[in-house]
Order: sequence, then C-alpha cells, then structure tokens
Amino acid sequence: MNKIPMSSPDLTDAERQAVADVMNTPMLSMGQYVKDFEQAFCDRTGAKHAIAVNSGTAGLHLCVRAAGIGEGDLVITTPFSFVASSNVMLFENAIPLFVDIDPKTGNIDTALIKDAIENTEKYLPRKGAKVDAKVKAILPVDVFGQPADMDPIMALAKEHNLSVIEDSCEALGAEYKNQPAGMLGDFGVFAFYPNKQMTTGEGGLVVSNNDEHADYMRAMRNQGRAPGDTWLTHTHLGFNYRLDEMSAALGAVQVSRLDEMLHKREQVANWYESALKNIEGVETQFIEKSTSKMSWFVYVVRFDKSINRDELAQQLIAKGVPVRPYFAPIHLQPYMVKQFGYRRGDFPVTEDLGNRSLALPFSGVMSKEQVMRVCETIAELI
Ligand SMILES: *Cc1c(COP(=O)(O)O)cnc(C)c1O
Repeated sequence: MNKIPMSSPDLTDAERQAVADVMNTPMLSMGQYVKDFEQAFCDRTGAKHAIAVNSGTAGLHLCVRAAGIGEGDLVITTPFSFVASSNVMLFENAIPLFVDIDPKTGNIDTALIKDAIENTEKYLPRKGAKVDAKVKAILPVDVFGQPADMDPIMALAKEHNLSVIEDSCEALGAEYKNQPAGMLGDFGVFAFYPNKQMTTGEGGLVVSNNDEHADYMRAMRNQGRAPGDTWLTHTHLGFNYRLDEMSAALGAVQVSRLDEMLHKREQVANWYESALKNIEGVETQFIEKSTSKMSWFVYVVRFDKSINRDELAQQLIAKGVPVRPYFAPIHLQPYMVKQFGYRRGDFPVTEDLGNRSLALPFSGVMSKEQVMRVCETIAELI
C-alpha cells in the first residue's frame, strides 16, 4: 500500500513557473516579488502594513522587539502551542507567563489571563523570574486554525495598557466574528512552512496598522537599516530575517490560490468528521461560535482516557498511517524545566490534551480514499 504523507504542500505549475521566472532575473533578494507578496497580504487582510520575513518565528521575534518587551518582562501566553510562540520571549530574556487553556478549543483561557494580570505572583514559575516582574503583553495563539477568544483579550489589554501579539501562524484565512485572524491584536503573524495552509518553503509575515512599528520591523529584518540608511549604515543592531525573491514568488501564487486551497482542506476535514463521528472514544475538533470561519491547519482528534494513545499511534504508524502527538506541552520541554522549574501537573488542561490528542495525516491534496483508509485503520485498531 502506498504511504500517506503526514502533510503535503498544494503546488501547481503556476508556482513552479513563478519561481523559474525569478531565476531569469538578477534580483534574488530585495526585489519586486517581496513587495508584491506583501501587497497581496494587505489587500487580503486589510492591514496597513505587511512585513515578509524568513520564518514565522522571525516574525514573532520582531513583534516582541517592536512591542518593547525586554529583560525580565512577563508576557502572558499559552503552554499549548508550538515552542516558537514562547521562545521569542526567551530570545529577549523576557519570560512567558503561562496560563492554562480552554479544554474545548485548546486556546488560551481568557478568565485565567485576567487572573494572571491581577494576581501575577500566583502564576510566576518556581524559578527564573523576579517577584516584582511586570506583565507587558499578551501573546495568544490561534491553535489548529481556530482564533483565540480575542474580544476579552483586547478588552483586558486596553484596560491594563498591554500589547497583544496574535500568533496566527496556524490560522491564515480563519475569521473571528467575521474579522480576519491576525488582524485582531496590535500585531498578527503568519507562517509558511510547507505544512501550513500556504507555503513559501520557509517564510513568515507580520501584519500591523502601526507606521512606527512597521518601519522598525522593516529595519530590524534588514540588518538594522532604518529608512534613509545606506547599505552600510545601520541605525539599529538588526537581524537578517529577509524573505528571498524565489520564496516570495512562490508565496504570491499561493496566496492567490488561498481560498481554493482552504476550501480543499475544509473538504478533507469534513470527510474526516463524517467518518470519525461514529467511532466510540474518538472526539473531533470543537468549533466555537465566535469562529465564523475555521481555517484547517491540522486535523487533530482526542481519544477517550480508556484508549492508550501512544500504543495506538505506534500501531497506526506500523500500518503506514503517520500520526503525531500534538502538542507536547511547552512547559515540559527540557530547556523550560531547566530554566523555570516546571513540573508535570502545573498546567493540567494542557497536559491532558497533550496526552490524549493525535494529529492525523492532513493536507488539501489528500484523497477521500486516503482519509477513509486512515479512519478505517483507527476503527479497526480501537
Ligand atoms: C508554525 C508555527 C510558528 C512559526 O513557525 P516557523 O517554522 O518559524 O515558520 C509559530 N507559532 C505556531 C503556533 C506555529 O504553528
């Protein structure tokens, strides 16, 4: 039997041609393709500024810098995410202040954000943070393509004068109460690794409506060259976070096809939903009412406590169905335990979902037969 891939990019000859076209120009970086790619994002999201970078992580890092988050500052965020959303604080010697998640959606629990602002000491890690450290920002993650509950987050941020960085790296094309994900906070970040809804190979992009932040982030992605600087003048100590022209050309075609690709992903998710809903012990994705549009990034199911998830995963892999536990809680990663002294039990909802969740093979180019084979294999093994 042919092997089903865990994920696949959705590419056509138009993407191949666009990349080849760049190869016939002398401009492989800092040319028109990146500008066009950024413009396509402004057009799509309504953002005033779009800043393309070479990864989602780089984009998040630039936001942390632009928000003025520095040494010892606290940023309220979720341990149920990909590590990048917390690592960008650590890059600046700032501290992720974890709060647990909503068990239904897997997104950050907004009641706990409020409590963490009002009773910060209660949420500090066992070590690695100063007792008088101040909360400076909130970094919610739109987990699995479903926007976090942004209205209460923005209200709290406004009340307490905090910046909000929306990690929409898994949610390009999603909508919260009919507004595009990524446009709900002060900054929004998208990512284009090949398993995301659209790809540039490696890549990411920040959206913002703030002119000053946008200028600073454009400078910081380009070795600190501020507007007016020459090639060898560097106003800031910057990074090289530039996206190259081949990646931007690929991305421009992908973004023009985004609605089509999202539609195909939704179709695959619907096939999964109807095939899995009658298997006892398997729970599919819960979609909140505020999610006016889900953008399917991964297809994650949860198993009942009576099912041994790890054993089932091994058996599925042995039968040619690749699967992955998703997410592994960030606070229990070895470097986090070492720096902050976290232990199992610190964030019970995150750990419970981490223990019971499994990402199934998923992409917009999966066939119905492949989806059925995955579901039949699960049913058989359970
Ligand atoms: C993919 C992803 C990122 C960014 O990943 P890169 O590989 O750096 O592009 C950030 N946060 C979350 C939640 C992600 O899923």
